[in-house]
Amino acid sequence: MGWQWQKGKTLNYLIIEEWAEKGVTAAFSSRSGGLSNGPYTSLNIGLHVEDKQETVLANRKRLLDEWSIPFEDCVVADQVHGRHIQFITGEDRGKGMESTGTAIPSTDGMLTNSGIALMAFFADCVPVFFFHPDIRIIGLAHAGWKGTASGIAGKMIEKISSYGGHPSRCLVGIGPCIGKCCYEVDENVIEAINEKVLNIARVAAPVEKNESAKKKYKLDLAAANREILLAGGVHPSNIWESGMCTSCQEEDFYSYRRDNGRTGRMAGLIKMC
Ligand SMILES: [Zn+2]
Repeated sequence: MGWQWQKGKTLNYLIIEEWAEKGVTAAFSSRSGGLSNGPYTSLNIGLHVEDKQETVLANRKRLLDEWSIPFEDCVVADQVHGRHIQFITGEDRGKGMESTGTAIPSTDGMLTNSGIALMAFFADCVPVFFFHPDIRIIGLAHAGWKGTASGIAGKMIEKISSYGGHPSRCLVGIGPCIGKCCYEVDENVIEAINEKVLNIARVAAPVEKNESAKKKYKLDLAAANREILLAGGVHPSNIWESGMCTSCQEEDFYSYRRDNGRTGRMAGLIKMC
């Protein structure tokens, strides 16, 4: 149970099985089974990465078909590594799906109590999925190191609480992201995260054989988000981590760091029946 690969009609993807049983699709796409070429091979879902627009739209349609979600029932945001969270309503239906210009502006977290599917893009950053069963609110956040340092995962929990939820009843999924095995960072990143994650030693370790003059650290972004969620009152047994590294699993995932910035994006998607 937990995050599991599903073999679809034409594509493989990950879902959280326990949530599917409760009527929520929390899914994460792989890079294979699409139409893109070169560094974007092949199921690139991001429109903002210099891939061909019509190919990306065809990939998006193929993926949403797999999940039986109408293209126009989806919404995407312009992700800026910030901490703004937008509550999505029926009026937002279809925003950002055909072109980047119509996306929800400058937003890295979305929440909704509607049947609209929230979709966001990832290639190393942490996809954080939220589902509060009692008040039927779902959410999706994009947390790279900047988003993690801004505490966006904790802010999502606060928002959900402001709509009548309780942190201890909130379910959270942490999808594939760059693992501590592959994520070396400078001290300024550690300092930024240290302000939000109290026990930094639990999520980062200095690199021993460091050839650079600067101090380097291995950072575990998934664990940092977990710490932030626990500090926000989420129950440890309500967090589902995939444990998968986007950089290590080259066959399955794009990785911004591994591919030197020129790569595609996977989709994280959450939808309530
Ligand atoms: Zn790795």
